[in-house]
Amino acid sequence: MPQSRHTVIFLDHSGAWASDADRRSERSLFPVTTLLISDPLFLDHAMPAGHPERPDRLRAIEKALSDPRFAPLHREKAAPGEIELAALVHPKGYIQELVAHSPQEGLAFIDADTSLSPGSIPAAVAAMGSTRRAIDAVMKGEFANAFVAARPPGHHAERETAMGFCLFNTIAVAARLAQKAGAERVAIVDWDVHHGNGTQDIFWNDPNVLFVSSHEMPLYPGTGSLSERGEHDNIVNVPLSAGDDGAIFREAFTTRVLPRVEAHRPDVILISAGFDAHRRDPLANLRLEAQDFAWATGRLMEIAARRCGGRIVSLLEGGYDLEGLSTSAAAHVEMLMGA
Ligand SMILES: [Zn+2]
Repeated sequence: MPQSRHTVIFLDHSGAWASDADRRSERSLFPVTTLLISDPLFLDHAMPAGHPERPDRLRAIEKALSDPRFAPLHREKAAPGEIELAALVHPKGYIQELVAHSPQEGLAFIDADTSLSPGSIPAAVAAMGSTRRAIDAVMKGEFANAFVAARPPGHHAERETAMGFCLFNTIAVAARLAQKAGAERVAIVDWDVHHGNGTQDIFWNDPNVLFVSSHEMPLYPGTGSLSERGEHDNIVNVPLSAGDDGAIFREAFTTRVLPRVEAHRPDVILISAGFDAHRRDPLANLRLEAQDFAWATGRLMEIAARRCGGRIVSLLEGGYDLEGLSTSAAAHVEMLMGA
């Protein structure tokens, strides 16, 4: 068969003919665009004055992602959602109670940390709808991966308890939606500095969902010890100590997080992306830098590339120092874009 002297032709994984030049820039063969979902309506979830989980967090991320290097992102506004999405992981009675608690004006407190404003339920519903859009798009291969910059966060919300600034457990909803979209086995990696007690609670009995959390301990909410392993050894807790830096985090991630994610053989990897393990964060005492989050993102992308076609959906959780949050989120998204 005659061959061009300048172009080596081979059959790639998808069965399409491709040149070596195409192979070098895989963008021409495989879509590697990152989907970013953000929306001003996530600012409408108001909190008491002085509360760390404030709308400015999203404004800071939005500003960081307005840098020209993020031009290749595919940006979308929030996708519509329905309150019923919460029923994938919460009992109907819990959802009804939360909606009934929603105030017409002002704030309604659930506990000392957690409250509802008139915009809270709409924001939480849009967060779930946006997560559904991200899951569907990534599962179909429309985008390589996705980052959903929404409020309120979700990983502290247990099946029947709103707490820790969280109303509905959005990452848990995402896992169930991924399963509906064909991902039998899901891995959730939660590097928020606080233990993801809600996600652990929801998936405690589910052998198809691996939940791996690295977090400072002791710290709110008090759970997340090594001995909490789930009914099917599907929960992995990696507690870190106050003062631990990026080197210690990377060592723990390499030896205790990544092998478990790989062994789970996930069909998609979800990230509870809190950035409050950053050294500047006022609510915790780890000493990570923005590049540590980028590094962790890259390691998960390597597993995703080997195991599940690169599919990653990341969802914002905590992060309360605006500079630490925005530089870390930007480093995370920039790494996702390099897929
Ligand atoms: Zn947190």
